[in-house]
Amino acid sequence: MAKKQTFVDKTAKVQAYSEKVKCGSCNQESVAGYAKFVESKVSEKSGAWKFLERKVKLCGNCGAILA
Ligand SMILES: [Zn+2]
Repeated sequence: MAKKQTFVDKTAKVQAYSEKVKCGSCNQESVAGYAKFVESKVSEKSGAWKFLERKVKLCGNCGAILA
């Protein structure tokens, strides 16, 4: 019987990003941070690795994710 195995690994890299933003969370102007999330997982069907990349902006002041 095949056992279901799913491996999910999330890594985030935060880089400096010199952009002034108005944060809706803390309601202040701040310099945005830039985070790259890489999600890697093994497909249950094919067994192949998948890498999903997402880029998000973070408030440099409170750390909230900016859309
Ligand atoms: Zn903020």
